[in-house]
Amino acid sequence: MDSTLFTKPTTFYSLSNMAAQKFSYRAPLLQNYSYFRNTNATSLLHLRGSSSSRVLSLLNVTRYSTCSGQEYGSSSKRRSRGPVMAAKKSEGEKQGDGKYKHTVDLPKTAFGLRANSVVREPEIQKLWDENQGSFVLHDGPPYANGDLHMGHALNKILKDIINRYKLLQNFQVSYVPGWDCHGLPIELKGKCHQSYFVKPLENFPGCIWELNLFSNYQHGLFMRSVLVLQSLDQDARKELTPLKLRAKAAKFAKSTVKNQLAAFKRYGIWADWENPYLTLDPEYEAAQCSYHLFLLVYTNYARLKCLGKWRCKGISIEEGNQYTGVLRLELLLQRLNWRILTIYDLQYPEGHVSKSMYAVFKLVSGTTSCKLLEDFLPNLGLAIWTTTPWTIPANAAVAVNSKLQYAVVEVHSNSVETVGSSANKEKQIGRILKENENLHLIVGLDLVPTLEAKWGVKLTVKETVTGAELENCRYVHPVESRECPVIIGGDYITTESGTGLVHTAPGHGQEDYATGLKYGLPVVSPVDDEGKFTEEAGQFNGLDVLGNGNIAVIECLDENLSMIMVEPYNHKYPYDWRTKKPTIFRATEQWFASVEGFRKTAMDSISQVTWIPSQAENRISAMTSSRSDWCISRQRTWGVPIPVFYHVESKEPLMNEETIDHIKSIISQKGSDAWWYMKVEELLPEKYHDQASSYVKGTDTMDVWFDSGSSWAAVLGKRSGLSYPADLYLEGTDQHRGWFQSSLLTSIAANGKAPYRGVITHGFVLDERGFKMSKSVGNVVDPRTVIEGGKGQKESFGADVLRLWVSSVDYSGDVMIGNTVLRQMSDIYRKLRGTLRFLLGNLHDWKADYAVPYSELPMIDQYALFQLENVVKNIKESYDNYQFFKIFQIIQRFVVVDLSSFYLDVAKDRLYVGGTTSSTRRSCQTVLAAQLLSVSRVLSPILPHLAEDVWQNLPFPFTTAEGHVANFVFEAGWPVSNERHLAFPEDDVIFWGKILELRNEVNKVLEVARTQKLIGSSLEAKAYLYASDDDLVSRLVSLCSSDNEADTLHRIFLTSQVEILRTLDDVKEDDIACTGEYLIDDTSKVWIGVSRADGSKCERCWNFSPQVGSYDDHPSLCSRCHSVVSHPIPALAAAN
Ligand SMILES: [Zn+2]
Repeated sequence: MDSTLFTKPTTFYSLSNMAAQKFSYRAPLLQNYSYFRNTNATSLLHLRGSSSSRVLSLLNVTRYSTCSGQEYGSSSKRRSRGPVMAAKKSEGEKQGDGKYKHTVDLPKTAFGLRANSVVREPEIQKLWDENQGSFVLHDGPPYANGDLHMGHALNKILKDIINRYKLLQNFQVSYVPGWDCHGLPIELKGKCHQSYFVKPLENFPGCIWELNLFSNYQHGLFMRSVLVLQSLDQDARKELTPLKLRAKAAKFAKSTVKNQLAAFKRYGIWADWENPYLTLDPEYEAAQCSYHLFLLVYTNYARLKCLGKWRCKGISIEEGNQYTGVLRLELLLQRLNWRILTIYDLQYPEGHVSKSMYAVFKLVSGTTSCKLLEDFLPNLGLAIWTTTPWTIPANAAVAVNSKLQYAVVEVHSNSVETVGSSANKEKQIGRILKENENLHLIVGLDLVPTLEAKWGVKLTVKETVTGAELENCRYVHPVESRECPVIIGGDYITTESGTGLVHTAPGHGQEDYATGLKYGLPVVSPVDDEGKFTEEAGQFNGLDVLGNGNIAVIECLDENLSMIMVEPYNHKYPYDWRTKKPTIFRATEQWFASVEGFRKTAMDSISQVTWIPSQAENRISAMTSSRSDWCISRQRTWGVPIPVFYHVESKEPLMNEETIDHIKSIISQKGSDAWWYMKVEELLPEKYHDQASSYVKGTDTMDVWFDSGSSWAAVLGKRSGLSYPADLYLEGTDQHRGWFQSSLLTSIAANGKAPYRGVITHGFVLDERGFKMSKSVGNVVDPRTVIEGGKGQKESFGADVLRLWVSSVDYSGDVMIGNTVLRQMSDIYRKLRGTLRFLLGNLHDWKADYAVPYSELPMIDQYALFQLENVVKNIKESYDNYQFFKIFQIIQRFVVVDLSSFYLDVAKDRLYVGGTTSSTRRSCQTVLAAQLLSVSRVLSPILPHLAEDVWQNLPFPFTTAEGHVANFVFEAGWPVSNERHLAFPEDDVIFWGKILELRNEVNKVLEVARTQKLIGSSLEAKAYLYASDDDLVSRLVSLCSSDNEADTLHRIFLTSQVEILRTLDDVKEDDIACTGEYLIDDTSKVWIGVSRADGSKCERCWNFSPQVGSYDDHPSLCSRCHSVVSHPIPALAAAN
């Protein structure tokens, strides 16, 4: 690995100095050979001079022990650095040590060995800022409520890699970053409610759960908001006007955006940072407002009045009506439904004690649906059991299981007295058991013995009926006098506990709600935000449902002869995990968008989108096909208002095209705050001014997922340079349920098409052991710390190392990061940097005019260009497929194996001592320039700082195909593919593969020779080859006979000579001490021998040659070096 050349300078210089000293004491051999300039390697092989010189072997052994390429082969340990060493000492060592140092072409570059990322990356980012293409990747807005984590880094860097690649491919890339700025977490984090948590809930003994049957995203938020508002004292509540709260929340969101923006920039992300989109921008709010009008305006409302409650039902719009084109699809909105809180925030601890109650609901005389019951009227009742007596006022039905058997039992209440034992002290027996004679009840047949024991009565079965037969019987509500039905419930009705008949209150339970929907039951939920009964609960108004309200209901039922028994009941009950308080369930009125109307279109469009990874299509399809209504309203202040007015008396909503357009224009100018500070009269169009006093503003805000989900309308559809649909959305897998879906649904509902052509999803970032990161566990890897160090981490890896990590992982699943991984990335980064530095350093005197025509290049150079071209081609393919980890693998292998361990290793001799303007050096530079320009560009999307740093240190201008000089790497575009380079003959590719294999095998034998102290440096060695394959032999011989030095085998092997033997018969062990054998293609045998090289060591290039000593003017030089120094180059003299 060439990095050794740069990474250990101190060791290097001191060692080279030692080498030079030894060298100067060595007497050259005085064999007098004739001119050897053009002698090729083949003829060299037959010159067997003996060499007695022993040059320090410590040198090379020590130096190469620092190499890190062990896993890539053994070659790095044995190389010669003759010319490197002879000249290197000139860098900073005292003058006069090397006579020929000025004739050696060492690398020169200002491009630093170290990335110095803390200083250099911001400098490069500034350079981009000062100098800043149609591919549209639409940014999913992160939530503006805190610091960035590694997931953000993964997401934004992946996007940036894609954007930068597209830029290189000459796309006009527009990337507008966004932030999601509304919602409760921002209210909370913005300390808009800072005083609230100080005060515990005093009056309300529990928490309110508002539960939505349907999937939704802002889980848990509403729960907390209920707590928050409850804990506000009255004064503080008055103090906190919506506008004050909104101002605080907006301030917090904007400052968070600012911080996150700075952090994203520090990752090296390119975006239109000056003009991001914020969901709180008036322009954005207005676009959203106008959009959701489309959802609402063209929807007519029909109303049903049920028991004093309003139900609004959407009526579908048929295709082909006057609104076709605006809203082509059916859309349903209901304003009555369940409110959400996630089940994930509930705990079900043991030990909750409820007052459970057995109650009687009297059947109505005249029940005709079940004739056989008539005999028992009017003394017949339905026995029910509940653990929440406070829900009785909301009772709407009694549900039975159609398959169960039920019994009409006669109650012999004279035995009540017998239950006065101490164990039953806590039981409270109802008056009905004591006072009502001739009482008959309907209970589950299987439960008769249990209930007898429980109630302490004798129950005589008089009749049996099935649940199905009970359907549609009617009973009188025990509190109010209204009639309610017996209905068929689900399998949740069993005879495991209770009575087998279930009290059903659709306003307070999920199963009840679902059952209620089937029967069109009224949804009664007379409980306010503080857990108190509302006016609707009549006599219970103002009582706490979990406290005195519960007791009052029991007392009321007892009074009405409807309570059989109350007893404590120990069971699991839903608690809020945060407050450890019991919860209650209630239904609230909400706005819902029904997906049903456009589900098919949504499903069709999903199949037309490109999903990466492809499994993602199944995920979103499953979620969309099973998705029910979308609750779009929130009872929050920090958000976009639902622009609806309600009639004070009729509660009728007022919302139409006119009202919405009017509000839209107000919001676009003044922001959504206007909804709160402007009067109804001002918010209504002029036409309605005279009716303004009859209306009040709605107080609901839009679900934040509706906010972000309409970004395609507010951003893609509005900004110049952007297009709708976007080419790509790229977010975490959780967004199948989130932004991908909300964006899809809004776009489909409005325009009948998906807002994206392609969607990429990535996994979560885990710690290096595969665990979720958490502050409490202490395994969080902070991107800022990775980049800049600090927080107990000494190393600052820089943004490029973080980006390299992003490129290395298969993001389609969960990915892992930690210090071990980062150090590996850092090592690989250094190798890449070291290689690029080597290329830069050896092109310091390069001009494009010097390029050697392809046909004149030595084969090794043509082969190198072939490899490069393939690498660029494969990398492009991987970028196009978004498989960055493949790029990481390709580039790593190319740089470490193909370049460092081979081509560049061999090239040093040509570059340093081949002669400044020699064709061998220029042809090598031709290749180097191609490698530098291509590698830096193909790497630039992943490592932009490194690539730009290289580009800014280019010692020559790069002119693009269009003829302008590229001042920045991203101006240079993607390397133009070169078909000629790719057309390197297949036979030759195979042959060069064999050469590389041969080189590895020779290295093994050289290593043995070094172990046996036969040689130190490989340049002290001469290699012998014998192959049984005649074709191979002739190709090796012809290679060696080529008219350029670059292709000769001893240069490729870094030995001083190579001899190809025609036979092994004459080989004597004394001459060739170290040997080895291997098979090529498993068939053809190759024999390798190593002896000490012939001749003496050339002072300038350290190669051994019999010609050293044969030149009177330069007795210490070999013929090659003699030729170079005999034709001095003016430019070289000037450079020195
Ligand atoms: Zn030489």
